[in-house]
Amino acid sequence: MKKLISRSSLIELAPYEFGLNVADIKFIRKNEYISGAVGELPFTDVWPELWLLDDACYDQANHICKQIESEVKQNNIDWSCIECGEINANSFEFCWSCGELRRV
Ligand SMILES: [Zn+2]
Repeated sequence: MKKLISRSSLIELAPYEFGLNVADIKFIRKNEYISGAVGELPFTDVWPELWLLDDACYDQANHICKQIESEVKQNNIDWSCIECGEINANSFEFCWSCGELRRV
């Protein structure tokens, strides 16, 4: 088995699991329930991990994960208000400065 990816939470792993499921790539989760040990182990050692059951799928799975990662990053990009030009955090649906609705 090969380790494919680890993230700080199961929530962050979810889009990767979804992508692998869509591609019918088999994997297992590790460290799903180990977070109680944080403090005794280096914290990255207790992050939830996805491991491939079939190493032959590694290249394909890795490619899928890279695609998902770039999508996740794009979704975190700030946006600029078309009304006043102010930069807003991705989580805002309205401009914090002028109240204009997000249109990008
Ligand atoms: Zn604005």
